[in-house]
Amino acid sequence: MSADSRKELESLFQKHGHTDFKWIEPKDIVVCQWVRLKCAFGCDEYGQNASCPPNVPSVSECQRFFSEYSTAVVFHFEKTVQLPEDRHSWSKKVDLGLLELEREVFLSGYRKAFMMIVDSCSICADCTGAREECKSPRLARPTAEAMAVDVYATVREYGYPIEVLTDYSEEMNRYAFLMIE
Ligand code: SF4
Repeated sequence: MSADSRKELESLFQKHGHTDFKWIEPKDIVVCQWVRLKCAFGCDEYGQNASCPPNVPSVSECQRFFSEYSTAVVFHFEKTVQLPEDRHSWSKKVDLGLLELEREVFLSGYRKAFMMIVDSCSICADCTGAREECKSPRLARPTAEAMAVDVYATVREYGYPIEVLTDYSEEMNRYAFLMIE
């Protein structure tokens, strides 16, 4: 992608209020089987959210998906919430904004634009839990974690902070990934 094209996209990101982002190489996105296992064993969303495993491609298909891109951006969000339930209202608002950005990038001529959002899809109060029964398939997107990305390893490579948190009152460092081409 040319420097001018990057500048145009950066203006678009800023227009949407995103100033904390980095261009990354898709080949640096770390995809691991263990991430999928953490979804399958230990996460309440497994089988309950229509944009989370098992409603997503296999790990090898995810690897192939990332290999089909030459450009990507990671967006960084810092947030502290007082109550666990506050997390979803915050992330829903952020994610809906990210989907608008994805659409604008697409309409700018980047036909492969694909956003991976900051938290499991919470557009509907009651998720169907099955991809084919999704109530808003045009808006639903997976997180990077659902796509088997080791977000910790990936963002640390680019100097971004991320730690395992032990309490909801601690500051979260959340990340969205936009694949572009
Ligand atoms: S759009 Fe609704 S039904 Fe579809 S994944 Fe999101 S919350 Fe679930």
